[in-house]
Amino acid sequence: MKPEIWHTALIALGANLGEPQRALAWAIGELTAFGTLGAISQFHLTAPVGGPPGQPDYLNAALSLSTLLPPEALLDALLEIERRYGRVRRERWGARVLDLDLIAYDALVQDTPRLTLPHPRAWERYFVLLPLSEVAPDYAHPQTRETVAQALARVVGK
Ligand code: ATP
Ligand code: CA
Ligand code: CA
Repeated sequence: MKPEIWHTALIALGANLGEPQRALAWAIGELTAFGTLGAISQFHLTAPVGGPPGQPDYLNAALSLSTLLPPEALLDALLEIERRYGRVRRERWGARVLDLDLIAYDALVQDTPRLTLPHPRAWERYFVLLPLSEVAPDYAHPQTRETVAQALARVVGK
């Protein structure tokens, strides 16, 4: 029998349409079906970056999840949670009721059309790094070795 191996996933949550607080709380509840929740950040209001002008502020959070799912299956689970909450995909980086990104999965590095790990833009994004620093400040990017706390300090100091 294959041994069960638990993996640590870092997940970022965001919403800026509808009821963001409710969306994030609901998504966190749904994620419990896919593993055991570790630390959960506070909810932070952040200014939108990129995308069309004039969209509302985002509510962002991050959490750590211990899971038996392989990364692609976990991504499917995240996309399915977004879909069930009623996310409609329109323009890139446009406003959305719920966005769930897989930021990192153990120290895995991969780049396929469906899933890039770590998330390619996470280490440059204040709105990801701020909540993630409350959950996994010492997690080091597997390629650059820069920790979440170091990246946050760098981005804030820019
Ligand atoms: P960004 O990726 O810049 O945060 P976004 O979250 O708005 O933008 P989406 O439209 O939500 O982008 O996702 C587009 C696709 O990105 C997803 O269908 C998924 O296959 C792919 N993707 C690749 N790597 C990841 C990852 N690490 N986490 C989530 N989605 C990813
Ligand atoms: Ca995103
Ligand atoms: Ca996404």
